[in-house]
Amino acid sequence: MWENMSLEEIKRCADDPFPSIRAWKKEKRKKVIGTTFADVPEEIIEAFGMLPVTLMGTHKPLKKAQALLPDNACSLARSNLELVLSYETDLFDGFVLPQVCDTTQHLSDIWRINVKNTYFESYLAPRQTDRESAKYWVRREIERLKDSLSDFSGIKMKEENLERAIEVDNENKRLLKEIYRFKSENPSSLTNREVFSMIKLSQQVDKTEFNESLKKIKEKLRSGTREGYTDVILAGITCDPLEIYDLLDEIKLNVVGDNLLIGSRYLQGEVDPGEDLFEKLMERHFKRGFFSPIHGNVFAEFEEIKRLYKENNAKAVIYVHIEFCESQEYDLPDLKKMVRDEGIPMHVIETEYQTTSLSHIRTRLQAFFESIKGI
Ligand code: SF4
Repeated sequence: MWENMSLEEIKRCADDPFPSIRAWKKEKRKKVIGTTFADVPEEIIEAFGMLPVTLMGTHKPLKKAQALLPDNACSLARSNLELVLSYETDLFDGFVLPQVCDTTQHLSDIWRINVKNTYFESYLAPRQTDRESAKYWVRREIERLKDSLSDFSGIKMKEENLERAIEVDNENKRLLKEIYRFKSENPSSLTNREVFSMIKLSQQVDKTEFNESLKKIKEKLRSGTREGYTDVILAGITCDPLEIYDLLDEIKLNVVGDNLLIGSRYLQGEVDPGEDLFEKLMERHFKRGFFSPIHGNVFAEFEEIKRLYKENNAKAVIYVHIEFCESQEYDLPDLKKMVRDEGIPMHVIETEYQTTSLSHIRTRLQAFFESIKGI
């Protein structure tokens, strides 16, 4: 299904992965579990032979979610709920939803009540990650998820299945990192859209199969030119719709680093080998360096962005702001000030799942990069 995909097919599938997930489910007769950002340990779900699919909203019209969520809920939360209530109504066997902000906390209860006849579990990541007790908490949450999936499926998770899932997911992240690095050093060899489509799709399809496509793509990579490209850092939570990457490609902006959840934060999630796999999964949670809406530390985010900008010798930072995202709304004014005080050019792209105007984004991006030419 996903083991022999061309770049064109990957782009198309990343845009709408659901028909292929539906076909996979029918062929394999396995369960599909929806999750949302961030940091749900996919490997646990995979160790039960189920497919974890990260929900990343829909750009289709809202019909039901608006009546169920407050007006100031972010469009990502609204469109995720809409996706399962109106568009992918019978695809998912269950959901594991992390609670990372007030919106997702409310969303979990609303989801549990309104999305009927499916398994539901919350995944509660700690907000205060610098306390020693946070480690104990994360480990217990991972074990609780395992027990909950065991009750749902009626089977016990086998240690060797978890080991295998970790190997496959680690390989997926290593392949993506290699392709990402190659593209950033050879900007004309691949497009930003292609690279971030691969990262997105990795969080939605069977990685055992998809790794085969990634290996073939990696083997075929050929050096490209740097001429005419401007290196940039991408920051935020996610960059959606994927057409925004087309705009970056159009004006020859080369993403050389990012701190996105559908980006390097995901790639940082390799699990170290070890005897106690639950301990290793717990340690992975704290090893991820980049911003997460769970952590919400604007100073740490600023330091990360500054480091990415300097280490990669980038020319500017592009920050993708999801309107009404409370985590971003709190931090963005301070972040903007800190970045600009440091003398780093920064441009903010405003997105909203149902109304993002690509022509508006294009015009503002072009104007920004015209203004920094020669810096
Ligand atoms: S972190 Fe932001 S984008 Fe994510 S669910 Fe919460 S409010 Fe929405």
